[in-house]
Amino acid sequence: MIYYKTAEEIELIRQSCLLVSKTHAHVASILKPGMTGLQIDKEAETLIRDHGAIPAFKGYPGAAGPFPGSLCVSINETIVHGIPSDVPFEEGDVLSIDCGVLWHGFYGDAAYTFKLGEVAADVEGLLAVTRECLYRGIAEARVGNRIGDIGFAIQELAERQHGYGVVRELVGHGVGKQLHEAPEVPNYGKRGRGPLIKEGLVIAIEPMINLGGRQVRQLKDGWTVITRDRKVSAHYEHTIAVGLNGPDILSDHRMIEEAISNNPELSEVSVKS
Ligand code: MG
Ligand code: MG
Repeated sequence: MIYYKTAEEIELIRQSCLLVSKTHAHVASILKPGMTGLQIDKEAETLIRDHGAIPAFKGYPGAAGPFPGSLCVSINETIVHGIPSDVPFEEGDVLSIDCGVLWHGFYGDAAYTFKLGEVAADVEGLLAVTRECLYRGIAEARVGNRIGDIGFAIQELAERQHGYGVVRELVGHGVGKQLHEAPEVPNYGKRGRGPLIKEGLVIAIEPMINLGGRQVRQLKDGWTVITRDRKVSAHYEHTIAVGLNGPDILSDHRMIEEAISNNPELSEVSVKS
């Protein structure tokens, strides 16, 4: 069952999403080689709780036990759900950082992939295209379209135009009083298929795109999902609301990109398609 949101509910979700973005921006301001996932996780948890909000991922139930972090920190070949660890980040690492909060009864969810210093040209291209996939998907989130139109746009750019692997096992989702609500929002699909998009739909669109093949493997910790060929993966996510005038992006990557431009340890992701 899809719960469509009122304008008031969308404003509450926007507040949660902006806190997620503020958390990402804070992480972007301190990231550097030598820092660990546990360190940024602690920073994120403190910032979220200082606002009176709850980190949505911490304690999230899974088959192998609750998720231990406030952030998912997915490095290089890790696609998503990386557990924050004490392994220091290295120059050239690609870090996908996913964050969610619960605030005033509503969730916000967003992700951003950072590069620590310079990365290989093919990795740079992957990040730029995955980011573009996110915006191509968002552009399809309009009243009268269907969920399959979003996945089609993402798959078209990533798979057919660039030959990247589009992850099938993990998908975007509705966001509201639950972190993961209906509908599922796959990053692949057919035009005109899937649930009809109506005013008040709030969804997380989150392309997970692999430099190599689309196959994944789950590690024994029950959380970490990596690429089977161990090639790099990227992940960008926004929570958006569908209005009569089109998609309204509730999370804010500009805050993150400003922090990146002020941090000499990070390089900006180029805009390309
Ligand atoms: Mg997320
Ligand atoms: Mg999500």
